[in-house]
Parts: sequence; structure tokens; C-alpha cells
Amino acid sequence: MFHSAGRARREHDTTTIPNISALAVLQGVSKTFGSGDTAVHALARFDLTIAAGELLVVLGPSGSGKTTLLNVVGGIEAPTTGSISVDGRALTGLDAKGMAALRRESLSFVYQFFNLVPTLTAYENIAVLAELTGGAVRFRVERVLAEVGLAECANRFPAELSGGQQQRVAIARALVNRPRLMLCDEPTGALDLDTGRTVLTLLQRLCHRDDRAVVLVTHNQAIAAIADRVLRMRSGDIVDDVQHSTPLAASEVSW
Ligand code: ADP
Ligand code: MG
Repeated sequence: MFHSAGRARREHDTTTIPNISALAVLQGVSKTFGSGDTAVHALARFDLTIAAGELLVVLGPSGSGKTTLLNVVGGIEAPTTGSISVDGRALTGLDAKGMAALRRESLSFVYQFFNLVPTLTAYENIAVLAELTGGAVRFRVERVLAEVGLAECANRFPAELSGGQQQRVAIARALVNRPRLMLCDEPTGALDLDTGRTVLTLLQRLCHRDDRAVVLVTHNQAIAAIADRVLRMRSGDIVDDVQHSTPLAASEVSW
């Protein structure tokens, strides 16, 4: 099928992919909102390579550009300057259709407030996306619900689930297209410690087991301990970039 054929082709096309383990490459990326006196430089010339299998935690105070970074990597915002490639494909230059295909096939988002449709069950919230990416909808939705430990909750509405369960449904939804890159914006920001830990444990496992990359944006310093790599941002700049050789198991994290 198109999806697997496309991936196989990309894997063998070494002329366009200098580093096969690089899932996302940003070169000279900046993002400015507005112009003149009111211009806001949300990202200042960013160079960043995100590797497969990497849990990258991006830390920074409010307004430091974390969400903007996710949005440009995820193709939701176009950068003002620079180039971005994801999963071997250049974002810059893709038309709307190409961008939609890339987002469907390679990327997914997880948000602080889950963004589930309140009038759809857990199953239906996921099925809506599964239908966009091909067949075997029931099989795929049931598999991802089981993956996040919520097989029993398929027919519940978001209001009948706890916050932690809603976030796990959102993560299941984000997994249904088998993304190479998951972009998570404050995924535990609305959760207490116990449920936050459950969600982080899930994200850490998904990252390492399936060799995808997970970018986890947070202003919670404690979460940095579970990262393979920690990026600290301030005013749109990377001020620190540190690798952890032995990250903390997310089940042990505390704040
Ligand atoms: P963070 O996620 O770290 O809190 P953001 O990426 O949301 O930071 O914002 C970085 C800066 O860009 C902030 O000064 C914010 O006000 C500004 N900004 C973000 N999005 C927009 C927008 N759509 N229009 C204008 N300014 C924006
Ligand atoms: Mg933000």
C-alpha cells in the first residue's frame, strides 16, 4: 500500500536522507509573529536534529517558544526562515495536500487538555482518525486502546473518564497512525502526580519500544529526569542541550 511503499522507498533512498536515524532536522529555523515594533521572535535561528528512539524533553518558562517549536515541526505553522524535514521529507515546499499526508503518516500531537470530542466515545474519537489512514479500523482502534490499558473503556464518553484516562485515550488516538514522531505539549499539565506518572511511563515506553521519537514540552523541571535528552529554551533560543545516559524510569518521577 501507499504508506508502506512510501516508507520502504524512503529507507533506501540514501541520497535524500543523510542520516537515517534523524527523524526531524531543523536548520536555521526562526519564527516571528507580526512585524515592526510589535514583532515577537518566538524562535530565533534554531538548529536541531531529533533522533529515532529519543525522548526529548523541552523545558522552558511560559513564552519561551516551546509550543511554537512543536507547531513548526508538526507543520501547523510555517517557519519564517530555515528548513525542516520530518521522516525524510522536506516540510518547506510541501503543498497543503502533501503536508496533510505527512501529518497523517508520520506525526501526531498530544495536548494538555486532551482535545477529545465530547460527543464521541473513546472508540469513536480514535476511529475518526483511523478512518483517515486506511482500513482495519476496528482492529487498529482496539489495539491502541489495549496498548494504553483502556480496552474496557471503549464505549465511554470523555466525561465518563478521569483526566488520566482521557489523556490515555488521546495518546491512543495519537498512536493509531503509527507515527514516527509524537509531539506532546504539556501532556501532564492538567494531571495530578499519580496519573501524570502513568502517562509519562506510557510515553517513555512508546518511544523506546517502537523506535519513534517523542518530543515532550513542559515547564515542569522534574520531568527532565526521564528524558534521553533535555533541551532548555529561553526567549526562542536553545540555552542548554544535554544527553542522559541513564534516564530515570518515568514510574519513579516525582514532583
Ligand atoms: P511557550 O509554549 O513556551 O509558552 P509559545 O511558543 O506559545 O511559548 O510563545 C512564544 C512567544 O510567541 C510568546 O511571546 C507568544 O506570545 C508568541 N506567540 C505565540 N503564538 C503567537 C501567535 N499566533 N501570534 C502572536 N504571537 C504569538
Ligand atoms: Mg506552550
